[in-house]
Amino acid sequence: MDARLEAVRDTVLARNPGEAEFHQAVVEVFESLGPVHDRHPEFLEAAILERLCEPERQIIFRVPWTDDSGRVQINRGFRVEFNSALGPYKGGLRFHPSVYLGIVKFLGFEQIFKNALTGMPIGGGKGGSDFDPRGRSDAEVMRFCQSFMTELYRHIGEYTDVPAGDIGVGGREIGYLFGQYKRITNRYESGVLTGKGISWGGSLVRPEATGFGTVIFTEEMLKTRGSSFDGQRVVVSGSGNVAINAIAKAQALGATVVACSDSSGYVVDEAGIDVGLLRQVKEVERGRLKDYVLRRSGVSYVEAGCVWDVDATVALPCATQNELDGGAAARLVRNGLLAVGEGANMPSTRDAVAVFQEAGVLFGPGKAANAGGVATSALEMQQNASRDSWSFEHTEQRLTDIMVGIHHRCASTADEYGEPGNYVLGANIGGFVKVADAMLAQGLI
Ligand code: NDP
Repeated sequence: MDARLEAVRDTVLARNPGEAEFHQAVVEVFESLGPVHDRHPEFLEAAILERLCEPERQIIFRVPWTDDSGRVQINRGFRVEFNSALGPYKGGLRFHPSVYLGIVKFLGFEQIFKNALTGMPIGGGKGGSDFDPRGRSDAEVMRFCQSFMTELYRHIGEYTDVPAGDIGVGGREIGYLFGQYKRITNRYESGVLTGKGISWGGSLVRPEATGFGTVIFTEEMLKTRGSSFDGQRVVVSGSGNVAINAIAKAQALGATVVACSDSSGYVVDEAGIDVGLLRQVKEVERGRLKDYVLRRSGVSYVEAGCVWDVDATVALPCATQNELDGGAAARLVRNGLLAVGEGANMPSTRDAVAVFQEAGVLFGPGKAANAGGVATSALEMQQNASRDSWSFEHTEQRLTDIMVGIHHRCASTADEYGEPGNYVLGANIGGFVKVADAMLAQGLI
């Protein structure tokens, strides 16, 4: 790392003890930024990095609710409003038992650069709770969401902060959150949340956008080597929103997706995952992958296994952070891996990224590859602002253009800084410079 940045890094790590994921995200970005500061000493003088690493505002709150047996439950809610240089804070809400401040801050920090790369007018933020929706009834999820919004509503708004979904927060949760916001504020403020239902202000393609966008970005990377998804053997981790739509798009482009997972195990389906059945099991019935296996022949299930034990030419990690480590990366590389497109946020450990880069594997980091979700959220905001709704085809074309544009921005920035093909460097520098320029222009705030 550049010596000038080391001191800033050490201060940031010391000021934020015990937040391992936030540290990881910060260090990864800092490692790319030395050459930028050679060209832009003004960024150092204005302490842009120190300011970027300190969220503009952090909110932590109690979320009391009652379960179906009438018992009082208490969870912790978070919203980290990280950076508003480019627009209102924008980023999802995650409901998962692992959520704590360090995870919300890593996600919010990454979101700043991701949102900048989309070219849309959105700042970076993230939130969530350690609430676990799994196994909870609809009524329990509704009461939790209503309580969560009863505090959150005072901090958000279409010009202030616009949350969306993430792990554990899909259309159902956004519906309950929006209903409570409307009830408290007496305003039908469509632009306050994205990921809404199609009939009440949502955008077509938003549910598919992160998974589709990840595949579009990865296809662009493959094209640089004269290749494409057609004929590839693909492994996808996870079986949630991002994973299912990545599987659907990869197969539409001619790949065979032979495996996917959830936190209990993974499925191998050499004929190619049946996306219709997977949607039925996971989205309609809210079941487990085991239920998929029971309904389809020629499929095997590995309980508690690691999906990265399955060979692939393209890997799409779409579950969660640090799910793909150096050992798994080395094994995939030995067995013919060509490309990795991160649908999840920071799913590859730093060791894994180093293995991919040393082996010359095409590696698309999440902040670029999965930006299609937030970009389409920004398209949802545009439709809300103009009280319009666009067709699927038009919206998908906008998403495709945005993803191709992000790929181009990352690739050309990597070329400009003398590291062709290094999408990590391209994404970090491309996102950072845009935010840093805006922060300089807006003065010390
Ligand atoms: P979902 O809740 O729809 O699905 C998450 C999937 O990942 C599930 O299959 C879940 O399995 C699995 N998973 C979650 N946590 C773990 C864990 N600790 N270990 C193993 N498996 C796990 O979430 P999304 O698909 O929306 O999000 C997936 C990733 O994509 C996240 O990293 C998210 O930040 C990122 N992302 C999402 C966007 C979106 O638009 N939704 C936008 C950009 C990024 P199980 O059901 O067993 O828990």
